[in-house]
Amino acid sequence: MQIARRRFLSGAAAGIGAAALSPRLAWAGSSFTVGGMEVTTLSDGFLTQPADFMFAPMPQDALAAFLETRGMARDANLTPPCNLTLVRHEDRVILFDAGSGTGFLDTVGDLPDALAALGVDPGDVTHVVFTHGHADHLWGVLDDFDEPFFYNAQHMMGRVEYDYWASPATIDTIAEDRVPMAAGAKRRLDLVGDQFAFFEDGAEILPGVIARATFGHSPGHMSFALADGNATAMVVGDALLNDHTAFVHPDWPIGADSDREAAAAVRAGLLDQLATDGMTLIGFHLPGSGIGHVERTEGAYRFTPV
Ligand SMILES: [Zn+2]
Repeated sequence: MQIARRRFLSGAAAGIGAAALSPRLAWAGSSFTVGGMEVTTLSDGFLTQPADFMFAPMPQDALAAFLETRGMARDANLTPPCNLTLVRHEDRVILFDAGSGTGFLDTVGDLPDALAALGVDPGDVTHVVFTHGHADHLWGVLDDFDEPFFYNAQHMMGRVEYDYWASPATIDTIAEDRVPMAAGAKRRLDLVGDQFAFFEDGAEILPGVIARATFGHSPGHMSFALADGNATAMVVGDALLNDHTAFVHPDWPIGADSDREAAAAVRAGLLDQLATDGMTLIGFHLPGSGIGHVERTEGAYRFTPV
């Protein structure tokens, strides 16, 4: 009942009716396999962001010309989807990120419904692996009673990322408009407590799941290669986000990135590798179900959803 009520309120607040909500949930459960891994993306909903959150630091004249080719207005709100990744492998049920939960925005928080549609109970999840500590990835880690939502799971986060958000100094040093996010992260990390384990760049954190440092979007952002036999895929989290510009102009700074230079260098490296290897990727905020390929074009790249 509680979930149904929340979804109704969420739809009403977003100004969309029940008929418009159903397509949003219809694709929850896009799947592919990586060897013996079954990989499924699940929708937590979508964000609503002012365009400046992404576009403000970009070269504005070139941006205006580029957006015109896309038929996009410069000041229109952006509504990127939120796609979580579920990997079922042997006896493990691994969830990458925990979604937004109920306390962030009205247009997100659908993950529990998406899991239920797949027949996955929160208690079935054995591992929750975080790309980073931003609200849309972390805040769903607790239920409405401040208990871990995935109560049987080992929670795992890169050491650098965890240390940043767990530090009391972060709230005092982060940009003012991000203080609520920092406070929310610290509170959740503290409450999950010793259910957290930590890992470093290059570690095989679970069989066939290899952490890759992609620092820049956040101080310790991690991506994950999935590998079983010769099959591979990459969970890139927010290392590739803002598909409007990131593939065509990967060098343009993106407002949402905390270290914009480092994030651009990470983008360049990931795009080159993904295009060269033809590897399937899953992007948390990429269009559709977030699953696709990177193709090389004249001097740039293109994201092709599958
Ligand atoms: Zn995000």
